[in-house]
Amino acid sequence: MAPDLMETEDCCPLCMEDLDITERNFWPCKCGYQICLFCYRHIKEDLNGLCPACRTPYDDANVKLVTPDPQE
Ligand SMILES: [Zn+2]
Ligand SMILES: [Zn+2]
Repeated sequence: MAPDLMETEDCCPLCMEDLDITERNFWPCKCGYQICLFCYRHIKEDLNGLCPACRTPYDDANVKLVTPDPQE
């Protein structure tokens, strides 16, 4: 039993999978809505390609990858 029920920021809101270190630094939309890479590809290739939060079309040009802080 993991006592992490109250902190769910580190999992994908769509598939509920844990975000890995890359995905935690992966921001596909300017609105700051975070999903895993799997869901990002799924939305772009199989669904409407829109951000589920703000309905902005996903575009690789808008994707931001933050370099992890080495102190963390
Ligand atoms: Zn996901
Ligand atoms: Zn968005």
